[in-house]
Amino acid sequence: MSEKHVVVIGAGIAGLSAASYLLRNGYRVTIVEQHTAPGGLCTSWNRNGYTIDYCVHWLMGSKAGTAMHSIWEELGAFNNKDGSRVPIVHFDEFSTIGLSDGSSICLYSDLEALKKELLRVGPEDKKEIEKLCITLKQLGALTNNVRSSHVSFTEYLANGCSLVGQMIAMMRQLIPMGTYVQRFKNPSIREMLLAEIPSDWSLIAFTMGLAQQHVKAAGYTIGGSLNMAMNIARVVEQLGGIFRYGTAVKTIRIRESSATGVVLSDDTEIDADFVISAADGHQTLYSMLEGKFIPRKFQKAFTDYPLFPSTIHIALGMDRNCSDIPHGFTPYFPDPIQLADGTIVDRCLVNAYHYDPTLAPEGKTLLTVLINTWEGLFWSRMANERPHEYTTEKKRIAEEVIGRLEHILGNFSQHVEMIDVSTPHSVIRYTGNWQGSFEGFAPTNVTLKTRLPKIIPNLHNFAMIGQWTAPGGGLPTAAKDGRDIAKHMCKSDGKVWTAVLR
Ligand SMILES: Cc1cc2nc3c(=O)[nH]c(=O)nc-3n(C[C@H](O)[C@H](O)[C@H](O)COP(=O)(O)OP(=O)(O)OC[C@H]3O[C@@H](n4cnc5c(N)ncnc54)[C@H](O)[C@@H]3O)c2cc1C
Repeated sequence: MSEKHVVVIGAGIAGLSAASYLLRNGYRVTIVEQHTAPGGLCTSWNRNGYTIDYCVHWLMGSKAGTAMHSIWEELGAFNNKDGSRVPIVHFDEFSTIGLSDGSSICLYSDLEALKKELLRVGPEDKKEIEKLCITLKQLGALTNNVRSSHVSFTEYLANGCSLVGQMIAMMRQLIPMGTYVQRFKNPSIREMLLAEIPSDWSLIAFTMGLAQQHVKAAGYTIGGSLNMAMNIARVVEQLGGIFRYGTAVKTIRIRESSATGVVLSDDTEIDADFVISAADGHQTLYSMLEGKFIPRKFQKAFTDYPLFPSTIHIALGMDRNCSDIPHGFTPYFPDPIQLADGTIVDRCLVNAYHYDPTLAPEGKTLLTVLINTWEGLFWSRMANERPHEYTTEKKRIAEEVIGRLEHILGNFSQHVEMIDVSTPHSVIRYTGNWQGSFEGFAPTNVTLKTRLPKIIPNLHNFAMIGQWTAPGGGLPTAAKDGRDIAKHMCKSDGKVWTAVLR
């Protein structure tokens, strides 16, 4: 019997991962990607000698021995084309947050240093600060758990007991940030927490990233996001995966409640025994499946659930070494910037990539500024209907941001030699993500308790994976989803699963 043919829609990390694992289990795979490169949101692009990095700020699984690390290794994420390995940077200072009184709080990776910093700011909150640090320790241990089939019974028991404690710590993290901050008396600590995470999001959105810093389990991958995606895509190609770049899937062909292939934007068709959509969830359900198979949970999610925002992303090429600028900081603007979509911006996230020499010419630095907006569709309408205004607005925002950074940092504006601004319109255009959201459904105490279906009832030979199928999103979710669906298909098809490259 010939191998089953699977069409994977989307060459983001979820699609690449599914393709990679299916190929090593004997499936034939065609990946259809609307863009001309793999990676989806996990991307970078070149401008005037700079590589503008978009995605990876902290990658869960960067530490050898952790469960997520072995998935990245299986996918080949850390093996560069020239045979070198991707170096990983772990920071001593996770991020620095500017406050409205002109001071700042540094979130150190080391828990003792972090405790000291928080006690410096709010000694009256000693009890809560200590509790927070204990939680970070527990969560760090949870993600740091080594996956091994060769543990002794006592090790197994000890691991089990600590896991129970860690799971309880995890459940406590579902509390909304707006409620959590009430536990602190100190206004600066409250301000810092709310600057990091919207008040309706769960505390875990704050603690998860921070908790992995002291165990060095979520670092930055030198070479940037696209490099990592290309590493994964290269393995898929070596395994015999066929990429169809620059062509979008218009619809998923259904016969008698089974997916039988896809119809592309030029109306050509590709037959398939199984179709996996690793593309945007809204487009998959409402457009590719023409709204005929929308599970109730997804209907509710797309109606009620808050989303991760989209971004105005400003990349600045600095003609100097910017190692005097914290690698990740959130300045406060006393004089906020109003975006054309109405968003008032009094903070943004600045990343100074002085630690990654691959992103800038020698002696120079890539710096990026991320501004959140939940008005993604506004930018697409503006770009399409009023292109001149769109271009002018992008220029204005960049100028305003540079002016404020000059004021805060000094020695700044005269060193800017390259400016590149992307908006939610760019996200929608290049990746199709609903409203330009950069990580799907936001992590709240409701969304995090919801299990969205990846297999749609009454629709055979079809699955959905990727950030829209797991609130909270992120690269690890995408990679793990691809692995899980391949494993699921092997089980259904009576195949002996392997993650090994043959
Ligand atoms: C600025 C930014 C910073 C981030 N930082 C981090 C971080 O530090 N750590 C982390 O873990 N995560 C981070 N993320 C989130 C992470 O990038 C995403 O959650 C993850 O990449 C999603 O992968 P995915 O494969 O599910 O979806 P996508 O990356 O959206 O991939 C979907 C793919 O499907 C393609 N597609 C869509 N429609 C069609 C169609 N009709 N036909 C064919 N192809 C189609 C798209 O072009 C795209 O390539 C960040 C994201 C952004 C934008």
